[in-house]
Amino acid sequence: MKYVSTRSSAEKVDAAQAIVAGLAPDGGLYVPESFPAFALGRVKDMAEQPYPDRAREVMGAYLTDFSEAELRACARQAYAPERFGDCPAPLKAVGDLHVLELWHGPTHAFKDMALQMLPRLMPLAMKKTGVDKQVFILVATSGDTGKAALEGFCGVEGTQVGVFYPVDGVSPAQKLQMITQEGENTHVCAVKGNFDDAQTGVKRIFGDEAFARELAEKGVELSSANSINWGRLVPQVAYYFSAYADLLKKGVIALGDEVNFCVPTGNFGNILAAYYAKRMGLPVGKLVCASNANNVLFDFIEQGVYNANRPFHKTTSPSMDILVSSNLERLLYELCDRDGALVASWMQALKSGGTYAVGEAVHRALMESFAAGWADDEKAMEAIARVHAECDYTMDPHTAVAWSVAEAYRAHTGDRRPMVVVSTASPYKFSRSVLTALQGAEAVQALDEFACADALERACGLPMPASLRDLRSKARRHNDVVEPAAMADEVRRWVD
Ligand SMILES: *Cc1c(COP(=O)(O)O)cnc(C)c1O
Repeated sequence: MKYVSTRSSAEKVDAAQAIVAGLAPDGGLYVPESFPAFALGRVKDMAEQPYPDRAREVMGAYLTDFSEAELRACARQAYAPERFGDCPAPLKAVGDLHVLELWHGPTHAFKDMALQMLPRLMPLAMKKTGVDKQVFILVATSGDTGKAALEGFCGVEGTQVGVFYPVDGVSPAQKLQMITQEGENTHVCAVKGNFDDAQTGVKRIFGDEAFARELAEKGVELSSANSINWGRLVPQVAYYFSAYADLLKKGVIALGDEVNFCVPTGNFGNILAAYYAKRMGLPVGKLVCASNANNVLFDFIEQGVYNANRPFHKTTSPSMDILVSSNLERLLYELCDRDGALVASWMQALKSGGTYAVGEAVHRALMESFAAGWADDEKAMEAIARVHAECDYTMDPHTAVAWSVAEAYRAHTGDRRPMVVVSTASPYKFSRSVLTALQGAEAVQALDEFACADALERACGLPMPASLRDLRSKARRHNDVVEPAAMADEVRRWVD
């Protein structure tokens, strides 16, 4: 399988090259040249396989320059019981819906599903491509990617990892997880601004050729662990197959029945992985894109016009507080029949004017596979309280956005196909918000973050993850705060 850029199909590279590079040289994103067909019989067999084998099968369809033995070793290590418990991606029946829990990894958000895998693929990819430089993984995070990348790359030979997060844009638990990170090859810095400022700053560094030459002289090459990296996306395709296999196993569906997924969406990586699964032949009906008050994707899916010129809202689901969704570019490329020049023109319009319109044919293609909804904080809080009361199940605010949107979708459309709500974080990453939803603002007002977590544990009965409990006693090692313009200088300091 070869990979091409979303902005020009001229140059073709192997998966290993795409993973090492992160971004294509023309600024586009690497995408597979075609979608490998995955026979339904194989999905049926998956029902009897443990998660690491499911992941290896799906990834193997794309990472053809990696051997089966390599992928088996990566999957067994990445999704080992000491990192993910007995079941990395359990599917739970909750009320009329099914919840796919993707937060049983070391940092308790779904980013672990990919960021325990990417650091294992990266050294293999470096060897395959003959890269003998240090690879510096540069990350902009809305909260969860940062910690998951730090945890995944910590101690991985030949790599360093540097994370920028928006200074007031992450939850207290997310911030503590990052600034207490240990390890020689890890770096963390706050940026004054919101996630889009941090992401724009990182993209600027990636696009700066003089800076790349400067780093090359020091034997360092930049790469990305954001979901623009193909190595981030490919492990995510696997859990959609896994969810389908579990529905089969439980007898909820028969082989070939269609299933809908509702995905809480920010940078469009997670839901794009579901679309890839569909294109490989997984019987997926609608992909329901769930947004919070930053509903730029909702408007886009409804109208075919992407317009990032709008107020930025800080919400209780910070990992979805995003106005420029990077991975949408990969979907657009498929929807316009792989016209790289057209994609490039939309991305140029987005960069210069903050908006673009895709035209009727592309919009129609978009609506065939996707539906959209959004839920503000109030609706998400209401869903947390109600599902806790009615089903004895406690969701984090991101999952609650998707739950609320999934319910509204079913009510409006009458679509009765089984609906899987993708659950992206442990409620303990957002203890204050979840506790507020359950007990009201007054009950929570006087509590600090740790007291909120303790009270949440008493209220919901779900055991608090030990690594989150341990945050209280850890040293705060990373305390830098910079203006967006000073981000490159910070990277220089890290590299030296
Ligand atoms: C990253 C994240 C999301 C958004 O996922 P995308 O792939 O960026 O769309 C949703 N919820 C949580 C908890 C996250 O960490």
